Amino acid sequence: MNDNADPLLRDIHLAFIKMHILYHASKEKVFGVGLIEELGRHGYRLGPGTLYPTLEKMKKAGLLTCTCRTVQHKQRKYYKITADGLKLLKEIRIKLKELYDEVVEENEKR
Ligand SMILES: [Zn+2]
Repeated sequence: MNDNADPLLRDIHLAFIKMHILYHASKEKVFGVGLIEELGRHGYRLGPGTLYPTLEKMKKAGLLTCTCRTVQHKQRKYYKITADGLKLLKEIRIKLKELYDEVVEENEKR
């Protein structure tokens, strides 16, 4: 891959990251540091400078809601999935399954 592929790879990673966030926010309340750790486990190295704008964008899009809580004198923002977020997650599951069947299993739909 040449250097021009970098922004493309970034786009793809960000899309995967957003899907992870949606999924985890559907299971429990999520917060920045926890997500950075969780995503790190999957091999995504991202800092707050990438994660927080992404969370805010998803909030603005109506996919997540946010509540603030003070933990050990620090404000922590907890994000939860919304009804629209759940709807999107349902759609993503179908698309992912199709992608998986084709790209991983190499079963092409005809
Ligand atoms: Zn995950």
